Amino acid sequence: MAGFKWLAGAGLFISFLAVSGLCSAESFKTVEVWKNLFTVTNGDGVDSNTTFLITRDGVVVVDTRVTPNEAKKVLAEIRKRTDLPILYTINTHYHGDHTFGNQVFEGSGPIIAHESVRKNLFGDLGKGHLESFKSRNIPGMDETVVTPPNMVFKDEMEIFVGGYNLRLMHVRGHTDGDVFIYIDQLKTLITGDLVVYRNVPSMRDAYVEEWISAMDVLSDFDAEIYIPGHGESGGKPVLIAMKHYLLKLKEMVLNQLGNGKSLKETQDAIRPVFMEKFKNWKNLDRLDANIQRAYLEYSLKQGS
Ligand SMILES: [Zn+2]
Repeated sequence: MAGFKWLAGAGLFISFLAVSGLCSAESFKTVEVWKNLFTVTNGDGVDSNTTFLITRDGVVVVDTRVTPNEAKKVLAEIRKRTDLPILYTINTHYHGDHTFGNQVFEGSGPIIAHESVRKNLFGDLGKGHLESFKSRNIPGMDETVVTPPNMVFKDEMEIFVGGYNLRLMHVRGHTDGDVFIYIDQLKTLITGDLVVYRNVPSMRDAYVEEWISAMDVLSDFDAEIYIPGHGESGGKPVLIAMKHYLLKLKEMVLNQLGNGKSLKETQDAIRPVFMEKFKNWKNLDRLDANIQRAYLEYSLKQGS
């Protein structure tokens, strides 16, 4: 837990940039979570995290935020700290709040992701995904040109860059194309939305049972710092909170299914328990959809 204590201590370096949140209550900020490793959080209409690692040879960027304008702010944060080139950009999954700034990093090294991220962002699927974001009134959304990754992999790849070893691994859970990144030298996991902190996750593309298995995969890494897709970074409690949410959802849904309850009865039974249990989390309005997702998945499993 040394890393967590460190994070909670006075060692955090936080810099603030312009504050003009139309949709977001909190301001854009860059946090140095570990030496040479920075995470940009919050901003106009977005709370997805973007992380960048400055190595002696160049910069690696993980996720590109929700609009080109927000991605340009990330680029400015990088340029405040180094003139070295951007060597790689990685997308942890296809969702627009992690990929719609890709165009800003296109042309400065490959954009890497799981192969299904390219499928989901290519052609009509990508256009449909952009349209769904345009309906959310996010400032600067109209500037987005969907830019799929141009280097993809299936299961695993490694990047050796500037003294660091980045291990990219695919699991399914939050989407069908999730990738997490383990940085050996920093004992750090960058999880994408497989882990979100104090935030009810979006489960519209989720595979609940595989997501729970993914939590076990993440637990097996020798990590002290977990950088989630949304919310603050921290030690193992960040991972444990996410796992707890998923296990509780599964347990309660299975219990309702076992008693022959309908979807509505299941939602009515679980919603108040979760509203209380997770009352400090954001996005509580997602609970009904998440219960539905788990209900459908486990009722199909029971039927097979
Ligand atoms: Zn997501």
